[in-house]
Amino acid sequence: MQAVFDGHNDVLHRLWSHARDGGDPVRQFVEGTAEGHLDAPRARAGAVVGGLSAIYVSSPDMQPRIPDENGHYRIPLPRPLDRHAALDTAMEMAAIAHRLDRAGAWALCRSTGEIRAAIRKGVFAAVLHIEGAEAIGADLAALEVFHAAGLRSLGPVWSRHTLFGHGVPFAYPADPDIGPGLTAAGFDLVRTCNRLGIVVDLAHINEKGFWDVARTSDRPLVHSHSNVHALTPVARNLTDRQLDAIRESRGIVGLNFATTMLRSDGQENAATPVSDMVRHVDRLVERVGIDCVGLGSDFDGATIPEAIGDAAGTQVLVAALADAGYGSDDLARICRENWLRILADAWHE
Ligand code: ZN
Repeated sequence: MQAVFDGHNDVLHRLWSHARDGGDPVRQFVEGTAEGHLDAPRARAGAVVGGLSAIYVSSPDMQPRIPDENGHYRIPLPRPLDRHAALDTAMEMAAIAHRLDRAGAWALCRSTGEIRAAIRKGVFAAVLHIEGAEAIGADLAALEVFHAAGLRSLGPVWSRHTLFGHGVPFAYPADPDIGPGLTAAGFDLVRTCNRLGIVVDLAHINEKGFWDVARTSDRPLVHSHSNVHALTPVARNLTDRQLDAIRESRGIVGLNFATTMLRSDGQENAATPVSDMVRHVDRLVERVGIDCVGLGSDFDGATIPEAIGDAAGTQVLVAALADAGYGSDDLARICRENWLRILADAWHE
């Protein structure tokens, strides 16, 4: 058993949808639900002690993944979002994060000290993340206000264009080197995040954007939820060159549990064995080193292996890694300590 601090979940999006349907998001998180993957009872059962929780605004024009006869697919990037509509939704999700905090359902953490204190108390340690910065304008005023409201991590793009940069489409097989890099506003965003102490998350950005962040950011490179392109050639996964850059910066890659990013055939199929997860961890450790690998489950955001099922099944992966030869020191790093090191660095602790 290893306590897991996880690099990426979409529970806020699920709770926001529940609230839109008239439900009580705090109650759903505290009491648990059969929906999705993550809530307090299932986190406790799987020893998931905390993680980065995304403010994510979905695209109304997102198309389904329909493979052709060869199993290949390519979903075009959805249209850019309207900023004001995105800001409204982002505020609603941030408000839910704060309601959970006030109710003691989770602790909204702004430092690794707060994370460790919440873990000791047995309260889920949440870190507020924005996945796709559409809610923020070029003047970055909203960034400062979100930071004051607890935002400590941000991805400039989800898989679509923003005024800061360009996302990678969901496509298999496909290369992440698609389209131009950061815009002038994007460079400004990265520098401002560095200064304020906000993680810059490279998940979903295209390859030119990745290299632009790599040469601009003064912090270790963070890719919260992606796997190895050499094993699963989806555009969202990381090429060996990108992994080398993450290793050189002493950054982190969080293993994504999405079956589309684990299986060699790139298919969405819950009957994906845990051995596929171990295979990606092995390759990540080989390429970036044991100090630069973490977990980034994508709970509530993806189809994950049925052998894991939901957050309650997280220790199935930990046990499989132990069986594959990872000792308790290595597992502690992969499961939480690497993430806590990265966050301490990004937050100027
Ligand atoms: Zn994502």
